[in-house]
Amino acid sequence: MADRDGVIWYDGKLVPWRDATTHVLTHTLHYGMGVFEGVRAYKAEQGTAIFRLQEHTDRLFRSAHILGMKLPFDKATISEAQRTVVRENKLESGYLRPMAFFGSEAMGISAKNLSVHVIVAAWPWGAYLGAEALNNGIRVKTSSFSRHHVNITMCKAKANGNYMNSILAHKEAEMDGYDEALLLDVDGFVAEGSGENFFMVRNGKLYTPDLTAALEGITRDTIVQLAGEIGLQVVEKRITRDEVYCADEAFFTGTAAEVTPIRELDNRTIGAGTRGPVTARLQAMYFDCVHGRAAAHADWLTPVR
Ligand code: PMP
Repeated sequence: MADRDGVIWYDGKLVPWRDATTHVLTHTLHYGMGVFEGVRAYKAEQGTAIFRLQEHTDRLFRSAHILGMKLPFDKATISEAQRTVVRENKLESGYLRPMAFFGSEAMGISAKNLSVHVIVAAWPWGAYLGAEALNNGIRVKTSSFSRHHVNITMCKAKANGNYMNSILAHKEAEMDGYDEALLLDVDGFVAEGSGENFFMVRNGKLYTPDLTAALEGITRDTIVQLAGEIGLQVVEKRITRDEVYCADEAFFTGTAAEVTPIRELDNRTIGAGTRGPVTARLQAMYFDCVHGRAAAHADWLTPVR
């Protein structure tokens, strides 16, 4: 990732990609106290545009607020930086990574008087779980790692350190031959994937876990809104893994994963074992929105030019 052409927005300046480095005693590198976003730009009908830019920038600031980190830039500047890196790297579509981290002035748990730095990078990134996954669905395994307890780490913050749990879970699933992990909360109820929110369909209703141990996903919110538009009832509730075994359909949502059908959980086939009709419809609506084909949601797209 580090050795490539292009530019990264770094504390207000565009820096050549290979020079966007930081000291090894950077506080966040040691303790994981940082916040970030994952955002996508799409080649829309009207030209390249960032999907739900404002909402991603808002969440970055909320995450920083939760961690007590004061960002040295305002929202308008960070949003503009995201448009700039897509444009300057000449991307037609891609993934964006804004991140805020503490500097290297001091080590130790007391993160007092540390500088806060912000970067925004962007690069091409196709289907996160593979193009095939979007059509045929993925095989998922319930993780042996629980999702965070709400009072151990802050689940509403998209915080760097939170992802150690995600990586452990994802790695375990991958090593066992599955595509992704489903994490349960400490009480044993479905929380989310390692980097995705979870939905299931049963008897014509859409179900998703309430937002306790799960991140408040922007794709999740998009799907809830789109479901409402087609008269699909959405129920937020605690979900057990055996309810998922018996669901008609299930899928993950995320900026990276988009709308990825789940065809199997713990070697139990879900529904017909392929992308179900409700999933297919919501996925198509989602792709219409991100590609600028849904006039009603044109405001979700911010052109980069
Ligand atoms: N949960 C976790 C743990 C995530 O990392 C992500 C990706 N940001 C999501 C859910 C989905 O969030 P969003 O739809 O905003 O990308």
